[in-house]
This record gives sequence, C-alpha cells and structure tokens, in this order.
Amino acid sequence: MPADDTKTETAGRDFIRDIVQSDLDAGRTQTVVTRFPPEPNGYLHIGHAKSICLNFGVGQEFAGRTHLRFDDTNPTKEEQEYIDAIQADVRWLGYDWGANLFFASDYFEQLYQWALHLIRNGDAYVDDTPPDQMRAMRGTLTEAGTISPNRNRSIEQNVALFEQMRAGKFENGACVLRAKIDMSSGNMNLRDPVLYRIMHAHHPRTGDAWCIYPTYDYAHGQSDAIEGITHSICTLEFEDHKPLYDWLLDHLPVPSKPRQYEFARLNIGYTVMSKRILNRLVREGHVAGWDDPRMPTLAGLRRRGVPAAAVRGFIAKVGVARANSVVDLALMDFTIRETLNPVAARRMAVLRPLKVIIENYPADQTETLEAVNHPDVPDMGTRAITFGREIWVEQDDFMEVPPKKFYRLSPGKEVRLRYGYFITCTQVIKDSDGNVVALHATYDPATKGGNAPDGRKVQATLHWVAATDAVDGEVRLYNTLFARPDPGADGDVMADINPHSVEILAGCKLEPSLATAPVGQAVQFERQGYFAADPDGTRSAPVFNRTVGLRDSYAKPAVTGRPAAG
Ligand code: ATP
Ligand code: MG
Repeated sequence: MPADDTKTETAGRDFIRDIVQSDLDAGRTQTVVTRFPPEPNGYLHIGHAKSICLNFGVGQEFAGRTHLRFDDTNPTKEEQEYIDAIQADVRWLGYDWGANLFFASDYFEQLYQWALHLIRNGDAYVDDTPPDQMRAMRGTLTEAGTISPNRNRSIEQNVALFEQMRAGKFENGACVLRAKIDMSSGNMNLRDPVLYRIMHAHHPRTGDAWCIYPTYDYAHGQSDAIEGITHSICTLEFEDHKPLYDWLLDHLPVPSKPRQYEFARLNIGYTVMSKRILNRLVREGHVAGWDDPRMPTLAGLRRRGVPAAAVRGFIAKVGVARANSVVDLALMDFTIRETLNPVAARRMAVLRPLKVIIENYPADQTETLEAVNHPDVPDMGTRAITFGREIWVEQDDFMEVPPKKFYRLSPGKEVRLRYGYFITCTQVIKDSDGNVVALHATYDPATKGGNAPDGRKVQATLHWVAATDAVDGEVRLYNTLFARPDPGADGDVMADINPHSVEILAGCKLEPSLATAPVGQAVQFERQGYFAADPDGTRSAPVFNRTVGLRDSYAKPAVTGRPAAG
C-alpha cells in the first residue's frame, strides 16, 4: 500500500472555514463552490498545495464542489505541458475535480461580449497612449493619476476601436481596453485598469482565434461568476484587487456574485516559490528539470519520495491565517518522517562502503538470515538476506583510534551486525599511503540473530550488506537548493543558490531487494534516512534519492568517524 493511503489529515478550523460555515448557516450560500485557478505557466509548487488543500478541502468538508480552472489568459507564457502536469499533480495530491474542469479561455467570447457591455455603458474605453506614458500617468500612491485624453472618446468610437483590436488591425501594445473608474483613487487598481491587451500569440487551446487577451483582473472574477463560485479564495496580494473584483461584478450582467477572501501565502525557509524563478532555475540549468528532487515543486517532492500524505499533513499543520510568515523547513522534514516512519519498509544500504573480511567464516559458504521489514509492523513480514565471509559496512562506523563514547567498530571492539552476528575487529588493512582499505574480523557463531547466549552485551548495531550479492547503486543526497533562509533578500536570488545542494555517491552497496524498489516510494535505509528509487536508475544500476534524513540534518551526531580515505 502506498504511504499515501494510510493516513488522513484533518484540517483544523480557520477563518475561511468559519466564513463558509456562517454563510451556510445564514442561508447566504446553498452549495459551496470553490476553485483552484492555476496559470499554466509552470509546474505546481508546495505553495500551490496550500491553495489546493484549502479549496478542495473546503469543497469536500462542506459537501460542495471544487473546480479546477486554468487561468490561461497569457498565451506567451503558457503551455500544454504545464496544463497536463498540473492536472497530474492535483490528482497525485489526492483531489478530484470530477467533471469540473474549466479554462478561462472557454469564456473568451463571453468576456468579450461583456467588455462591449462595459463600453456601451460608458464604463470602458480604448486607450492608445504609449505604454510608458500610460504608466507615468497612473500617478503614485501619494499623487493622483492623469486622465488620458482618450478617456472621453464616444461610445461608438470605442466600440469600433475595440472591434478592430479583436480583428487584428493593431500591433501588440498599440492600444488597450481600460475600465473607466477613478484616476484619483487611493487604490491604484482602480485607476482605469487595463482589461484587454493585444497579443498576437498562439494560444494552446484557442489557437489563433484571438489576438486580444483579457487581463487576470478582468478574467478572474467573471470566470468565478460564470461558474457560480461562492467563495473565491486567493492569497493576500489580491486584497487590493478586491475593489476592482467587486466593481466589475457590479457593472456586468453576471449570473452570480462570488465573494473574494484572502489568506497568507505559504513561504518556507531556504525555498523560493515564484514560478518565474523556478522557471529560470530550469531554463538556466541550475537544476535537472521541474521535477528535480531539490525543487519545491510537487513533481520534485514526488520524485524525492515525499508521499502526498506528507504534503497534505504539512499543509494542515501550517494552517490558514491572514498573517504572512515563513515556515521552518524542519516542519516539512518532520512531517515527512512522521508520515513515512509507520509505513516505509526497512532496508540496508551502505553508502560509503568499507569491506570487512570475516576470517573465521568459510570462504565457500554463505547463509540466509531473516530480516524484518518493519520493527513495529509485523504484517509487513520478513525477507531473506545473505551473510558471508565478506561484508560491507559504513566507513563512518569504524575508527582506528576511537575517542571516548565511540561505540562502533575499532580494533578489538565487538559490535552486532543487524539481523546477524557479533563481530570483533581484529586487524586494519591499509594501503601504502596509510589509508584504511579493509578490516579483518572474527564472528561468534553462537550470536546468530543478534544475541549472545552468555548474555554479553555490545554497544552498537551496524547495518551492513554481504559482498556476494550487494548491488552497486548511486545515492543522491540533497541539501537545500538555496544557501540562505531568505533567498534573494540581498537582491539577486541566483547568487544565493547553494553550490552544495546535491552530493552524489557512486558505488554504494545495496541489499538486492532494492534493485526492484518501486520508483518514488520511499523505504528506510536503516540508520540513515528515507530514500526513494529514482527513474534514472535501472535494475542493475539503481539510483536512490534521499527523501529526508532520520533526524534534523542540522543536529550533527556528537561523534563521527571516518577513515582517512575511501
Ligand atoms: P507564483 O507566484 O508562484 O508564480 P502564482 O500565484 O502566479 O504563483 P497561480 O498559478 O496564479 O500562480 O496560482 C494559483 C493559485 O495558487 C492562486 O490562487 C494563488 O493565490 C495560489 N498560490 C500561489 N502561490 C501560493 C503560495 N505560496 N501559497 C499559497 N497559495 C499560493
Ligand atoms: Mg498568478
């Protein structure tokens, strides 16, 4: 069973849910309808997951419905690849829009007719003021804007010009359609905002049918109204757009009156969530693609082995509020561990191998030992692992001159091999440069299974893999993609990229069952963390991504050991 389906997360109450509940109680809302409105100009990231969980969560909890609506109003940035990826990601996250898949582009004709309606009521006009001049004329927060000389064109002129805009008579940027609201409003969004711009661009869905495209502000609220959205939930930066959202609904013969509510967007330390920057990371080759496991995209998290349940659980922990904040990355990692721990199968893998030769074990012999797949879940069963004369252990688990409190292997020291025997290190083999290249040891046949009949204790249990059937694999250890908690705070976000965001270990020794581990489904490498097979790997050369370490990677173990070279 995928890690996903074993846990459900209950979102708590929050101000949005309180509003919805009171609308239902007061009869202002009959059926709750929400929507998730991505622009298909990139892959979804963990920030979008907050919006998805909120919108779909509210739809489910209040027995309403949630639409997936693509806000595809800017063809120069949008692609079919993104439309497909977004749908796959929402499904993966565990949400279903049923028959309610919509595109703002489906409403282009209606939106155009409504624009004519505004013009005919004297509420919109075509303006051919050059763009830079128009920008200057908007004024500032302290200074009123300047009225465009085109503001008083006749309705007939405006209708004719707008029809010519649609007919492709003008170049890109030659003119725009603006709402006629208030050039001295304290809210800049009301200073005759642009409703339509000319873009001679091929649209993924409407092809070349249009060369004028509605702005977000114009398309969004009207799309909400067409679909009968009751609660249009968006992030705080749209708070200042709300008066425009309402103005348009009030000036158009729309079939319903949705209401907009804003919540704080998700920010996470060391993480960038702007699609514009994520797009640059991909385009400029800083990462291997949108699904690079270092990316905060849902595709990246999935490839890293993060189950959807962990994403939902994390979002539930963060909650929904109106105060902006930055969430600690450790909360995400904690939630991933908490989700994976009860379900991830245990396996053994040696990431930085050091050979141990067990002198008193016959060279021509191997045997099969039984290893449990999960210490707390007997139903997950056991598996057979091979033991033989030569095994691999972790370089870190040996120190020739151990400090106090180093309980693992060192000359003369006895330790337990997990599911196996006690071994005692008898000799250290070095190359001509003095580097440790192998260890000799003896094993105690009476300790099979991990206990000594005489009751003597050892202080450490090591993971290991038999040399006879270990599979060589690659393991990719990830670090944050950015080197500081607030990437870009000094200006150039690209300058804050962590040069050590991935460490690739080749020649790792994996127990054979890992060769067929399902891609993307995390297992626990005992004592090391959670790892998931990467699609780059094959049966004979598996590749694993570290999903998350076993404990906070910032908290270093008190004592580590490593031979001089490996
Ligand atoms: P970005 O700034 O990353 O490009 P966006 O807002 O332009 O994001 P959209 O595709 O328009 O991307 O977003 C779809 C929905 O997801 C919007 O309702 C938006 O408010 C929401 N959303 C985007 N980023 C976040 C975030 N970090 N936290 C919560 N919701 C978000
Ligand atoms: Mg947007």
